[in-house]
Amino acid sequence: MKIRAAIIEASDTLKKTGITECDNDAWMLFSYAANMNRTQYLLKADEEIDEALLIRYRNLIERRALREPLQYITGSAPFMGREFLVNDSVLIPRFDTENLVIEAQKYISEGMKVLDMCTGSGCIGLSLACDNSSCSFTLADISEPALEVARLNMNNLNCSNVNLINTDMFDNIDGIYDIIVSNPPYIPTKDIEELEEEVKNREPISALDGSEDGLLFYKILASKSGKHLKNGGYLLLEIGYNQAEDVKTLLAENKFADIYVVKDLAGLDRVVCGRRK
Ligand code: GLN
Repeated sequence: MKIRAAIIEASDTLKKTGITECDNDAWMLFSYAANMNRTQYLLKADEEIDEALLIRYRNLIERRALREPLQYITGSAPFMGREFLVNDSVLIPRFDTENLVIEAQKYISEGMKVLDMCTGSGCIGLSLACDNSSCSFTLADISEPALEVARLNMNNLNCSNVNLINTDMFDNIDGIYDIIVSNPPYIPTKDIEELEEEVKNREPISALDGSEDGLLFYKILASKSGKHLKNGGYLLLEIGYNQAEDVKTLLAENKFADIYVVKDLAGLDRVVCGRRK
């Protein structure tokens, strides 16, 4: 079988199982299995595929057909122009979350202390840490396996300005920060059933479930981060598209000022920011 034909076959297999991004996923998994970029592929597309490679490739396609997310199979996901290692202990970094990083960048300056609460893979805190070497970063998560992934990413990205803390929200946090960022679990429990199979069956439920009303972690962040922020310090939170009003109210009730909402590229409310009075 020719290489080109193997990829077409793989895409068809994925299409039959209802994967809409079948062409992309078939290509990405081939590139991963063969360790080939687009140019190398184009030069070899009409050559016979190596038998061992074909077996390896079909195995990966089989896993994807069973709805394992592409990023867990390849073990990495792009975020803010860098590759982050991922496994099923962490939420896969989402493009929408880049809005939170971009907003936080506006407030970071020389020597600041920054906390990333519910860090997961570390994608938010480490993206900021890479670009602000004079600042110090604390990445916090309740999950030890998630922190292991964050640690691998920290080492991979050569961030020396980062420390990791295993904690249930603020329980083991005693620092005072200039900025706190968080993309906490925020899906209302009853809505989880409606998520894509890849998400609801494969990503860590503890990274998704925001309790009955989806707001549990915002309530904790709003009520407890004041104690860990300097006067005038910023709290920046990713939110679900319909949570802006609730989260703004929570911040206002907890002595935050200058509260505003940032929309994502789709025009949906995505980030809420506030300043400690
Ligand atoms: N902070 C991580 C991310 O944005 C994990 C978020 C989470 O687990 N809810 O990807």
